[in-house]
Amino acid sequence: MYKDIATPARTRAILDKYGFSFKKSLGQNFLIDTNILRNIVDHAQLTEESGAIEVGPGIGALTEQLAKRSKKVVAYEIDQRLLPILKETLEPYPHAKIIHQDILKANVKEMLDTEFSDIRDVMLVANLPYYVTTPIIMKILEEKLPLRGIVVMLQKEVAERISAKPGTKEYGSLSIAIQYYTKPEVVMIVPKTVFVPQPNVDSAVIRLTIRETPSVVVINEDFFFQVTRASFAQRRKTILNNLSSQLERGKEKKADIIEALNQANIEPSRRGESLSIEEFAKLSDALYEKFS
Ligand code: SAM
Repeated sequence: MYKDIATPARTRAILDKYGFSFKKSLGQNFLIDTNILRNIVDHAQLTEESGAIEVGPGIGALTEQLAKRSKKVVAYEIDQRLLPILKETLEPYPHAKIIHQDILKANVKEMLDTEFSDIRDVMLVANLPYYVTTPIIMKILEEKLPLRGIVVMLQKEVAERISAKPGTKEYGSLSIAIQYYTKPEVVMIVPKTVFVPQPNVDSAVIRLTIRETPSVVVINEDFFFQVTRASFAQRRKTILNNLSSQLERGKEKKADIIEALNQANIEPSRRGESLSIEEFAKLSDALYEKFS
């Protein structure tokens, strides 16, 4: 019986056997601690009837733990050199499937329809490549896929920004975008020592429970996100100054912006970081009437 893939000795043996060298440009920091991996899977709250999607299986450390606790796993891996390795390491788990593709180019919806047609509960679980953490999470959320949620390892600083509350220095348009679609919780802080090679930044695991309906209702979603991004463009500027300098035709419509702020009961001298997501929703709707 083999030891788990993630044990330091087995990981070393696999890497040596294939002469594998890590590519920093692909965010390759592999986990070598089975307890951490089991904890990540615990936080996904899978059952034998669940499905799991993974991004970046590496040599299969997390894929193996997911396969042990779910009905099916589909993992997207961009690095072709890992395919023969995964074929060997995941051989005992025929219900784990690897797709050789960049997740950002993948049609995940179509994959869900074909691979998970008989599974109702699907989670995305991953130790993400840190160079593309935010684009991956936003792609999955914006496509409104029928998932229960996402449990991912990422940079601690990004986890703090995602889960930040109004009035903190971490709060910004990323917090709002993700809290619009999900309820985030930082569930673990992870030391650098559990990876090979060790990353330069601290890590955390975040769970994003997808909401059945977004946290606020807005007339136009794209415009709502434009308004939030504009409001944080320069953090020291007031909301009025950011909106008039950042929104298209903002300068000529300064009087309209002041009126919209009044309608939403927001002092023009406030800063974006002090506004709740509900206030942004009211403001975006008031502005939309004047900008559309
Ligand atoms: N899951 C493994 C573990 O925990 O040990 C490896 C995690 S490592 C942080 C990230 C993995 O994502 C690497 O295997 C890398 O090749 C892969 N990867 C990087 N960019 C990717 C992309 N755009 N699409 C799919 N996989 C990607």
